[in-house]
Amino acid sequence: MRITQLMRGALLAGTAGAVFLFERRRRARAYVERRSTHAGRNLVVAGLAAATVHTLETPAVMPLARLAASRRWGIVGKLRGPNWLRDLAAIVLLDYTLYVWHILVHRVPWLWRFHLVHHVDLDLDASTGLRFHAGEIAASIPWRAAQVVAIGVTPRALTVWQSLTIASVLFHHSNVRFDERVERILSWIVATPKMHVIHHSIDPTQLLSNFSSGLAIWDRLHRTARFDADPSDVTVGVVGHLDPEAVTLPRILELPFSTRDLPPISHG
Ligand SMILES: [Zn+2]
Repeated sequence: MRITQLMRGALLAGTAGAVFLFERRRRARAYVERRSTHAGRNLVVAGLAAATVHTLETPAVMPLARLAASRRWGIVGKLRGPNWLRDLAAIVLLDYTLYVWHILVHRVPWLWRFHLVHHVDLDLDASTGLRFHAGEIAASIPWRAAQVVAIGVTPRALTVWQSLTIASVLFHHSNVRFDERVERILSWIVATPKMHVIHHSIDPTQLLSNFSSGLAIWDRLHRTARFDADPSDVTVGVVGHLDPEAVTLPRILELPFSTRDLPPISHG
């Protein structure tokens, strides 16, 4: 089956629309900043990230995926079985290695400088899910290339995984409160808004938990899952960056290059 632009567009527009509605009707937390200021700033950062994907990541990674498919590279390339099953295995492995990458951007100091831009948002909603510094996107390209080669990711698997990941990221960053029981069931399958707001907490030990971006199983397998806070009670942000004046658009764009010491987080 071919994955058409229309299917991708429908998935992403449908998810964005549903999240937008839920954020109006079932909001978990009041906004610290004006919502329009917050969303506008995040969309500018997201636009720069999207431009980096378009101009740097896709031209580097997509040809590699074509090569990986034609030469049967990587773990999945060596497997027998129908194409759809091998693509499914590739998508699961891409999701797992994204979990590993997320831990790396928290643990490696220079990567944390870029990932910090995502975390210093004082509010957490779907727009935060798109707010990654262009430098973090650029830094992730060699990792993405390694994923494609080592796993043996085909262009179709890559496209489907990218779409599912964006949909999942919009969902788990959303400022939405679900019924406790629904949340508990969902959290066995995918990263949920409750899990992810704990990851965005100002509490440094909560910050080093809930790294999953798609399937929630990775956090459970590696014992990095935490559920010990109510989504409405979490204070979002990073200690040392809680003043709204310190997280304006120009300040966050230059944050990775700041010469002042950034708060250490490589502990815990
Ligand atoms: Zn993070």
